[in-house]
Amino acid sequence: MKILKEIFDRLYTKFGPMGWWPGETPTEIIVGAILTQNTAWTNVEKAISNLKRESLLSPQALKDVETERLSGLIRSSGYYNQKVKKIKHFIDFLFSSYDGSLDKMFELDTYPLRENLLRINGIGPETADSILLYAGGKPIFVVDAYTKRILMRHNLCSEDASYREIQALFMKNLSSDTKLFNEYHALFVRCGKEICKKSRPLCKSCPLLNLICHI
Ligand code: SF4
Repeated sequence: MKILKEIFDRLYTKFGPMGWWPGETPTEIIVGAILTQNTAWTNVEKAISNLKRESLLSPQALKDVETERLSGLIRSSGYYNQKVKKIKHFIDFLFSSYDGSLDKMFELDTYPLRENLLRINGIGPETADSILLYAGGKPIFVVDAYTKRILMRHNLCSEDASYREIQALFMKNLSSDTKLFNEYHALFVRCGKEICKKSRPLCKSCPLLNLICHI
């Protein structure tokens, strides 16, 4: 499907490279992927910087820290009572299945590991795939609301398209390339945030302008 490559090339020419994920270690990326659920990244940054300051961005430290203290430190990310449980659920899973080792966890192949991640309470497809791609370097495409909006506005998916269907569109039509998937998702986020806005798409300044566009 040439159009998917065309979209990537245009976005990359305008914005790239994006250098994602904004995190220094796999643990930081995983915690960021959980904290960014239902909130803007700016709200996550303060939480991450609190955790860094308190030296809590390691599996062992996150296991040992009291839930109440952790929830205070991540308060800025919103839904902090739910998110603290999600972090703790992930850490429990990591220790019970992989002795607390992310290296050991990421030795698993992509799809078996994805199934395991999706069994953790609070980890949905977008978070699981973000962990796999950005923390584990696995070639899997991450879908989010920006991706779907841009595709819909170009008649490349329907409103009721599922996460799995949209993901399959990319996975089947692009080479299985971690670097490509890394950049592509980041570019969709950038375009969706800055140009293809929910209420008012700024088509005149968009690199995708003269693709067949239905809005
Ligand atoms: S801003 Fe307009 S041209 Fe750009 S992706 Fe959105 S609908 Fe398409």
